[in-house]
Amino acid sequence: MVLELSPICRWCGLGPLEPRLSFSLPDEAPGVGRGPFELQACAECGTWQVNPHPGLAVIRRFFEDPRRWAPALDPNSRPVDPLRRAEERLGEYRRYAAALKAQLPERGLILDVGAGTGLMLSLLDGVPNPRLAVEPNPAAAAEAARRGLQVSGQWAEELRPPFGALAALIMNQSLDHLVRPDLFLGRALHWLAPGGLVLLSGLINPRSLAARVYGPSHRLFHPFHQVYPPPTAVRRLLAPWGLELTAVWKPYFGTPYGSWRQLLSASAAMTVRLLRPGAAGPSPAFPGSCAAYLARKTLLTRSLTFPDPNPTCSRRPVET
Ligand SMILES: [Zn+2]
Repeated sequence: MVLELSPICRWCGLGPLEPRLSFSLPDEAPGVGRGPFELQACAECGTWQVNPHPGLAVIRRFFEDPRRWAPALDPNSRPVDPLRRAEERLGEYRRYAAALKAQLPERGLILDVGAGTGLMLSLLDGVPNPRLAVEPNPAAAAEAARRGLQVSGQWAEELRPPFGALAALIMNQSLDHLVRPDLFLGRALHWLAPGGLVLLSGLINPRSLAARVYGPSHRLFHPFHQVYPPPTAVRRLLAPWGLELTAVWKPYFGTPYGSWRQLLSASAAMTVRLLRPGAAGPSPAFPGSCAAYLARKTLLTRSLTFPDPNPTCSRRPVET
């Protein structure tokens, strides 16, 4: 098992980190086994994180494996075809696409990092902006190319778009898989043009109702979900970059896991779990477990340092 210890918060760069809980997986995860894995919370921003965490090599091996897009079993031992499952997010992605289209600057690239099969970008058909799907998994990248999208096989950390070149940066369920999401965002937000948009989805709230009720059995706790920023921590990270939140979603309906029937069944399961806290089994999908955020860059991205128009005035000695 390869795990690396981080002394600082991988969301805000501060800390200290305090132990919260440890969890184990029902099945082995590639390269890291079943656990137990430790979750720590940042005392500064409240973000939970797996620590020690899988390093870059383990994460990349997992995500580039074409078998990741082959049919497998979900936490409830039901067979899932990831290619079909991706399509079932259509309702959720349509909401994001409509919000993006309404605010998108006319010029600049739309960059989807961890684009999967390219579903999100395909919903932005008709916008004048060029679109690039960044997807290192060859099976998913082939699907995106079949949709007619331009595809790059680079990893997030390898991207170097020009300063201010992006109309939008999309990270659908990909930011929390990065080893250092803080460092990535610190660079990536410079790539946004003034008025540029950033969409971050699939960020798991460690203080959601399901997470509180189920604790270590919460279905979304996984070593490859490396960071769990609550909404306050997301705002805190984006605000200093001049990024203003324009929409927040808590996707449930419109996802593969969200229907009225499933909500009824999940509510019954949560009630049973509250009455019998030691009962076995993972948490059900439940509203509020994940959130998505759309933010707009409201500050100028160019330097505000100008030549002094009247240097003699500014250098006048202070009279005493
Ligand atoms: Zn923090």
